[in-house]
Amino acid sequence: MEKDSTVDQHDGDAPTVTCSRCNREWTLHYELEELYAGNRAVEQFALDHERHTGHFPDDITPWIVNCQQCPDGDRYLEKRPARRWAKTHARHTNHTIEFQPPAEKGSPELIDSDHQQEK
Ligand SMILES: [Zn+2]
Ligand SMILES: [Zn+2]
Repeated sequence: MEKDSTVDQHDGDAPTVTCSRCNREWTLHYELEELYAGNRAVEQFALDHERHTGHFPDDITPWIVNCQQCPDGDRYLEKRPARRWAKTHARHTNHTIEFQPPAEKGSPELIDSDHQQEK
């Protein structure tokens, strides 16, 4: 777990996110103050934006994990948790997961329970 009990409280210090598809810009006070998202405010905002509009804001490129054998899957804004999801799912279910990096970073990789690249 990350220690973010000491979220900065300065006003006017909230990050901003823009979306050219919506042609809007947001300041993330709500995520910081209402959701206590702390340094994950941008990630929280991006995931919420995708959930409600079907697309991510500008400069947000998710890692997508999709099980090939069941409807399970998820999206992450960082590689590490995405990979952890894939490996954990494979480990417990013996399913094969498609691990899709952000578009410009390469082609999908398949992860299954026999595929232990990282020790
Ligand atoms: Zn948008
Ligand atoms: Zn599965």
